Amino acid sequence: MSVTAQTRLLIVGPPGAGKGTQASRIAERYGIPWISTGDIFRANIKAGTDLGKRVSQLIEAGQLVPDELTNEIVADRLKQEDAANGFLLDGYPRTVDQVHALDRALEADARVLDAVVLLEVDTDEVVTRLLGRAEVEGRADDTEEVIRHRQNVYQEQTTPLVELYTTRDLLVTVDGLGDVEEVTSRIFTALDTKLAG
Ligand code: ADP
Repeated sequence: MSVTAQTRLLIVGPPGAGKGTQASRIAERYGIPWISTGDIFRANIKAGTDLGKRVSQLIEAGQLVPDELTNEIVADRLKQEDAANGFLLDGYPRTVDQVHALDRALEADARVLDAVVLLEVDTDEVVTRLLGRAEVEGRADDTEEVIRHRQNVYQEQTTPLVELYTTRDLLVTVDGLGDVEEVTSRIFTALDTKLAG
């Protein structure tokens, strides 16, 4: 296994693709912090911070938090010491504007991305999964209407990133259908190959 000292990764996929589950495993394997913008926002909402108050309504409605705010949070997070030797960003970037902001943040420290994992699943499958998760976790944005809205937001705002990262030869596409272990091993195989090359 080739674990490089500095591994900078993104994971992209529609809501319900299983990004969070896979992200924690990827981060552990490569020894890098897992940075989820969704988790950062939810933690702030729970703690009742100013940021939490600003974003809670948007998130509950399945809208995106404004780029400017999200960009600033991620840029700050990437400056923390544990991210110096790599990171896995989950849920960011989600818009073309965020891609450019991330480029600038990395360039400022002469850092570059190593790979972008795209977790592919079909829409009907993810809606079913999220409705199941709603019963278990009770996330405020897991109602059917909001789920469908989040899927549309993904199609409109986030799918353009796939082409962009393909052009940069960073994309590693993995089939997200199947059990968790199986998907994890597909990701590891694909990523190891990418990072070795
Ligand atoms: P999902 O599984 O729906 O993609 P996340 O936990 O990644 O869930 O995000 C939950 C919500 O947090 C999003 O619907 C959005 O409101 C907000 N959010 C997370 N990341 C971003 C981002 N990069 N830009 C804007 N909003 C974001």
